[in-house]
Amino acid sequence: MTPTNALRPVDPEIAELIDAEERRQRDTLKLIASENYVSAAVLEASGTVLTNKYSEGYPGRRYYEGQQVIDQIETRAVERAKSLFGTPHANVQPYSGSPANLAVYLATVKPGDTVMGMSLPMGGHLTHGWSVSATGTWFNAVHYGVGRETGRVDMDEVREIALRERPKLIFCGGTAIPRVIDFPAFAEIAREVEAVLAADIAHIAGLVAGGAHPSPVGHADIVTTTTHKTLRGPRGAMILANEEYAKAIDKAVFPGLQGGPHNHTTAGIAVALREAATPEFAAYAQQIVANAAALADELLARGFQLSSGGTDNHLVLIDLTSKGVAGKPAAKLLDRAGLETNYNTVPYDPRKPFDPSGLRIGTAALTSRGMREGEMREVARWMDEVVTALAAGEDTAEKAVAQVHGEVSELTARFPVPGLDR
Ligand SMILES: *Cc1c(COP(=O)(O)O)cnc(C)c1O
Repeated sequence: MTPTNALRPVDPEIAELIDAEERRQRDTLKLIASENYVSAAVLEASGTVLTNKYSEGYPGRRYYEGQQVIDQIETRAVERAKSLFGTPHANVQPYSGSPANLAVYLATVKPGDTVMGMSLPMGGHLTHGWSVSATGTWFNAVHYGVGRETGRVDMDEVREIALRERPKLIFCGGTAIPRVIDFPAFAEIAREVEAVLAADIAHIAGLVAGGAHPSPVGHADIVTTTTHKTLRGPRGAMILANEEYAKAIDKAVFPGLQGGPHNHTTAGIAVALREAATPEFAAYAQQIVANAAALADELLARGFQLSSGGTDNHLVLIDLTSKGVAGKPAAKLLDRAGLETNYNTVPYDPRKPFDPSGLRIGTAALTSRGMREGEMREVARWMDEVVTALAAGEDTAEKAVAQVHGEVSELTARFPVPGLDR
């Protein structure tokens, strides 16, 4: 929320910087696939005196007194999570997505065990056993990817690797997957090799809640998700589980990995989950997918190459090779033009991870601002203008940045930001 009379006199420097970030968020097109704009209600709940309270333990079983109110808040968050996703158990305490995934390991496997996930450069997450993550150091991690031609996960290949490596834990889901995840097929493979199946739906949780992507519930043994991506809550995470894993998950989160839960965040999560149960949220989820499809279509029409040839969800992964530029300089120039993206590896990327061939974009945040297919086509046009100008050289690029930035400002001025403009 806009810094109030309390902050400004105490710390004008930070108040100024928050003002600046508000302006930046209002004046740019947020195309980062993992980001969103929370509602004013979520923002308000997240910045409260609840931050003053220690609550190690779980509702009714705490290690500190004074939990009369906190217990009610956490119980509501848990009940709403269970009801929204249709699971028997929910833990809303993980500090974020990475610690939530660590809790899954702690609850289900031992150091040195074989685990399997999607490889990071193919679209997986660090915590799915990638080498530089603790999960790649402490476990024997094996990986599946996507087909070179299809850009999609090949379930026959996943099964082959699983049968050969016999992982004890399989992760499905990831950070750069533009296509529907086949949860039933993963579940069948996990059953066949007697592995625990964890579905990490961090990116798509809002789509699942809104009925715009199939749910892993009923297929995966454990579901992890961040709360701040398409689900549109505060920064945090949740773990949903069958009764079978409920106790182990709770013990892994606390006392296994964490101390006191962040109660102010728990309240924000509870509010976000209430919002996510409304018909408006379902409409938002459907619109995210429609917007991504429109954006992908227009990019394809303009000669962009897309990983897997398109999208089923909120995310579009662009391979810039056909445009003659790399991801990083493109992302930097687009940012100067008011289009905020991130550079990303594409499957089978011949370039290095810190200087890859791709751009990852998503439509959740723009959809939260009320933008629709028409605006997505404009966004694709601007991306094309900036990227094409970048390939043409510095002078052309500078002109394109100035031109596009002006047009972006006209658009952002017409779409208020939830949580900022009331
Ligand atoms: C974002 C993400 C995470 C990690 O979330 P953090 O909150 O950044 O730790 C884990 N898994 C997937 C698939 C993600 O997209």
